Amino acid sequence: MGRVTAARTPSRWWPAPAPRDEILDVTRRLFVALALISLVLSLLGPVVTVRGLPLLAAVAGGATLGLSWALGYRHGRALVRMDLVDALALVAIGVAGPDPEVILPLVFAALWFRSLYGSSRRVVLRTALYSAAMVSIIVLWPMTHHKAWPLSLAPLAAIVPTMIITGIVGHRLAEAIRQRERATMLDAVHIWLGAELLRTTDATEIRTLGWEAIGRICRCVPGLRVMKVRDLGAALEVEGRSEGLDRLSDSLSPHVLGNLQDAVGGPGTRGHRELDEAAGERCAWVGFATPTVPHRRGTAWLVFGAPDGVPADAGRALDGLANQIVLGYRNSVVHHDLTRQAAHDGLTGLANRATFTAVLAAALAAEPVEPVAVLFVDLDDFKDVNDVFGHRHGDELLREVATRLDAATRPDDLCARIGGDEFAVVLPGADVTTARVVADRVVSAIARPARVDGQVVQLRISVGIATAAAGVDIEELVHRADVAMYGAKADRTSSVQVFDGARDEGNVARLELERELALAAHAGQLEVHYQPVVTPDGERCTAVEALVRWRHPERGLQHPDTFIPVAERTGAIGGIGTYVLWQACADAARWRALDPSRTLAVHVNVSALQLDDDAFIDEVIRCLRVFSWPPEKLVLEFTETVMISSPAAIERLFAISGHGVTIAIDNFGTGYSSLTTLRALPVQIVKIDKSFVLGATVNREDRAVTEAIITMAHQMGVSTIAEGVETHEHRRLLHELGADGLQGYLFLEPASAGEFGSWLESGPAGR
Ligand code: C2E
Ligand code: CA
Repeated sequence: MGRVTAARTPSRWWPAPAPRDEILDVTRRLFVALALISLVLSLLGPVVTVRGLPLLAAVAGGATLGLSWALGYRHGRALVRMDLVDALALVAIGVAGPDPEVILPLVFAALWFRSLYGSSRRVVLRTALYSAAMVSIIVLWPMTHHKAWPLSLAPLAAIVPTMIITGIVGHRLAEAIRQRERATMLDAVHIWLGAELLRTTDATEIRTLGWEAIGRICRCVPGLRVMKVRDLGAALEVEGRSEGLDRLSDSLSPHVLGNLQDAVGGPGTRGHRELDEAAGERCAWVGFATPTVPHRRGTAWLVFGAPDGVPADAGRALDGLANQIVLGYRNSVVHHDLTRQAAHDGLTGLANRATFTAVLAAALAAEPVEPVAVLFVDLDDFKDVNDVFGHRHGDELLREVATRLDAATRPDDLCARIGGDEFAVVLPGADVTTARVVADRVVSAIARPARVDGQVVQLRISVGIATAAAGVDIEELVHRADVAMYGAKADRTSSVQVFDGARDEGNVARLELERELALAAHAGQLEVHYQPVVTPDGERCTAVEALVRWRHPERGLQHPDTFIPVAERTGAIGGIGTYVLWQACADAARWRALDPSRTLAVHVNVSALQLDDDAFIDEVIRCLRVFSWPPEKLVLEFTETVMISSPAAIERLFAISGHGVTIAIDNFGTGYSSLTTLRALPVQIVKIDKSFVLGATVNREDRAVTEAIITMAHQMGVSTIAEGVETHEHRRLLHELGADGLQGYLFLEPASAGEFGSWLESGPAGR
């Protein structure tokens, strides 16, 4: 995971780090070879001239010296005891031979060779030891050779100052070579690390690279060891260590960090008992806090030390390395976050649509072919939650739904949020039966009451299931799940529906229409047209009826007969009715504002289904308040079906009427009711159906029915409006019969708000 591939792999074209101590090694090799040659040549004299014990001493001294140098060269270091052994061997050779001056070349050879190892203090100590060896030879030679102190020993003493100079110069020279080589090697480590970090964003790999780089730095400085600890306050947790820290436990006491930071830039401070114990020898220690990495607790420290102190450039190299690694980690975190954001939904944390599609495509392409099912989950009436509780609480609820969805599905299923309140699940390996079981679990999980803003709400969902089949591509599968989901929504008796080719394909057009209709109000595709109600003499407009239209993006202006029955079946009528109510009141209030003397009533058609709950009553009350609209000037037209709806609906009708709103019965005469049943309802207006009006002038039966309705309605104190007035003949007849209001194409066909406004200005023309 999380890897990026660079256009080219830098480690391939960038040279590998320089081999360790190249120049220094050559110098050492040269020096040890020359020292050994000097040793052999110097021993020639004593070996040929002396016998017995002195010969033994000279050979033993020479062998010891040679061995000590060879070992020193092999291990790359010179211990104090080796210097001591060297001094003793020099004494043995010097005292054994006939001529003590033979040791002079050996002393210089040793000084040059040994100066390549150890600190300055060691050089001083070594020079002191060699000087002591000289003095010993000067003292011992006359005694062992039973001779008076010869003048030839004087150069041995005189050589001491030159020895000191040689020791210092040799050491400085070695130090300069060492520093130069170390700098080259440290640079190489940085270049290598930078190149490696370019090609990865994986945190584990970055960590491994970091330790590999630390290992390389350690190899540049003899005895250097590094540990990374995390300061957790009460203790230091050891997160990593280099070689040479075998005795380090997993946690250290916090005061270990003591004055480590003060030593930054210098060779380090000594006397850190716990650290020395971990290293197994006394070291000088340095430490610094590394820059922070997001999402990590505590501060991380890099603590490092070496017996001879830490060279400043090595400290700087570790500092730079820590920065490089932290930068790598930060890069990794950002990369990880961006990858997450690109694949997940920001609100719920579920996968997003792109991931859903990718996972589904992969599941469909799997070899061998496995069954795959898709669930489409849609929250019913979620808009209401947003309207009532606000979007913040709506978001909370969506998060809760996501959690429940995730818990109700199987571990390998992929849950995604693919729209506002739409979710989808990919179920790899699931057939219809399994998918149904999961879907039922999802339905009951989401149906459990949830808390929003201190109130309990219960969500309902509709789930569509589709399974992969031969010849079904990803688009088709998703479409099928969608169709099944809309089927479940329309059904209202079951929350889950499995896509059924025979049934659903036949209904695709209907389902498509239902889906579009559900979105029409939000998409701004609904319009309200207006038709006037005029006085029987046709002189004055007394009211206006709001008639909804759907401007479909492809099919053009749709009349209500084509979609109101669908909306009633799917429940979309609630949203449509609310839209028409608010729009009609807003337009009517505008016309009133233009001419306050005009006291138009506004008629709004209401489906009996809108009385299924209190929502519509609340909307009516809010709307009247918002527009300061007199309740009696709002006329709600119900068809006669309202009389056979539930007692609760009739109770709500009374409640609305109780607020002073006028109630009309629409299309009267076509339905089930008689005039007497009207008594049971709070009705003030009867609208005579246009079929009677249109026939009244041509046949006696229709005329008789129209007359009877008007007469009996008046006797019950109910006024009448005749619909479908198309001709002057119609108007005259209905005027004669005593209708209170007339409506029809004769005056104005339903027109847009703008056209109706103009008509209103010019005055009714149907007299
Ligand atoms: P309706 O309430 O009976 O509305 C009158 C219908 O008769 C309108 O049809 C109107 O255009 C038509 N009409 C008006 N004058 C004449 C005329 O002189 N001759 C003839 N032949 N027809 C005339 P529209 O607008 O197509 O509405 C059809 C029905 O749709 C309405 O019948 C009403 O029941 C329903 N409707 C309209 N808007 C809404 C609404 O917002 N909500 C609900 N629930 N139903 C609505
Ligand atoms: Ca009507």
